[in-house]
Amino acid sequence: MRIHCPCCGPRGVAEFSYGGDGTIRRPDLAVTDTDAHVAYVYERENPRGPHVELWHHIGGCRHWLRVTRDTLTHEISSVEMAGRFAGDAARMPGAGA
Ligand SMILES: [Zn+2]
Repeated sequence: MRIHCPCCGPRGVAEFSYGGDGTIRRPDLAVTDTDAHVAYVYERENPRGPHVELWHHIGGCRHWLRVTRDTLTHEISSVEMAGRFAGDAARMPGAGA
């Protein structure tokens, strides 16, 4: 499997580290419902088909990526920056901005 990093281009999956489900959102710390926090930490789906995942380009630019991958075919339909560069390709290192 190859992942097309927006910074580095196509790279083998060995350069990346899986970061988990990209759809999980941490509950607000003001939320006192412990079930919500337990679900955030421990409960995961095992999706079949397209799934949004986080991948860390640990062997390259070290950016976090949001990857949409089909869990049946491993086909990757989209890759975008996650974290502080999310949705703003012009701010990426090497973009000339
Ligand atoms: Zn990269």
